[in-house]
Parts: sequence; structure tokens; C-alpha cells
Amino acid sequence: MSLAKHNVAAAKCDVAGCENDAERSFNIKQVAKCNLKLKSNDLRNVHLCKEHYKEFKKQTKTDRELGAIYD
Ligand SMILES: [Zn+2]
Repeated sequence: MSLAKHNVAAAKCDVAGCENDAERSFNIKQVAKCNLKLKSNDLRNVHLCKEHYKEFKKQTKTDRELGAIYD
């Protein structure tokens, strides 16, 4: 994984009602597949905290399995 972590260090999680610091960011298209409620629907990149990243991963199992092919 080559996530530019320093880019999201100052960002907050984009899930509605969440005030945690963002851990990772994802393309809106990836996040739109799961049912996390976002603060804005007008984002290109969605920042997720640790907690919501876990949630996101749970809900996008299929993608993870596809990703595993390249491991
Ligand atoms: Zn969050």
C-alpha cells in the first residue's frame, strides 16, 4: 500500500457525526459502495478514521478479496 499518510494527518474523518482524526483517505467511488453517511456528498476523497476504516473494510469485503489476487 502506498497511501500518502502525511496528506491526511490534519484531516478529520468525513463520516457524519464523527470527530476523529482521519487515518486514511479513499476515492468517493470506493466509499459510495458502503453505507457510511458522509458529512458531504460532494467530496472527491473521503477521509476515514480508524474506526470507520474498519467499518468500510467490513462492508467492502468483495473489493478486498479482489485485491488479494495481487498480493
Ligand atoms: Zn470516523
